[in-house]
Amino acid sequence: MLMDIKKIIIAIDGYSSTGKSSFAKLIAKKYGLTYLDSGAMYRGVTLHAIEKGFITPSAEIDFDALKESLKGLDIHFEVAQDGSSQTYMGPRNIDREIRSLQVANLVSPIATVGFVRDYVNDLLHLFGIAGGIVMDGRDIGTTVYPNADLKIFMTASAEVRAERRFKEMKAKGENPTMAEVLDNIKTRDHIDSTREVSPLTQAPDAIVLDNSYMTFEQQMEWVDEKIKAL
Ligand code: C5P
Repeated sequence: MLMDIKKIIIAIDGYSSTGKSSFAKLIAKKYGLTYLDSGAMYRGVTLHAIEKGFITPSAEIDFDALKESLKGLDIHFEVAQDGSSQTYMGPRNIDREIRSLQVANLVSPIATVGFVRDYVNDLLHLFGIAGGIVMDGRDIGTTVYPNADLKIFMTASAEVRAERRFKEMKAKGENPTMAEVLDNIKTRDHIDSTREVSPLTQAPDAIVLDNSYMTFEQQMEWVDEKIKAL
């Protein structure tokens, strides 16, 4: 490994619930990097839009009001005592609320809006300015950090992904049906890959990781090899 690991940028993109954030967190921990969850930023903007009434349950958006409100919106990450990264809106910890099905159902429409993407990308660049980061999302290797040192594109079957998300939501006390979760995943995949601005696509220089039937240990072995080869 010839690169300075403290300056490295790893971009992890892929479909919803492929385990990007769990994988990114493990890599960050092992290599002493900062983990940045770009999806949490889009979810934070979505929670803000819901609370302010700038988006209806059927995803009609008041673009002018939303745009104006972003000027004063502070969404950022803080490291908790247990070392986990938590998402904040001003002084308020919103990490739990942004994982609700209500937010999940409206986040992809919000993420299609160009000025929302500009808002999030500016913040992501600010947070990542010193390097030494692992960032996960949908357009990190293509748009946010096209010069990332390592680009990983994660995929897994929709059913495997739905099962993972279902268990995760149950563990957090939510009570969705499997059909709702699968439907949300498929709908988000569709919106994310077909939107006009910065759609979810595999960067030409990204390495694909299909983790449908891989354990975390196997994924870490896989990434260790890739990092060693840099
Ligand atoms: O990663 P997560 O599932 O939390 O992301 C929530 C949503 O935010 C995605 O479904 C996508 O619509 C949007 N997103 C995006 N670009 C990113 C990260 C997330 O459009 N870089």
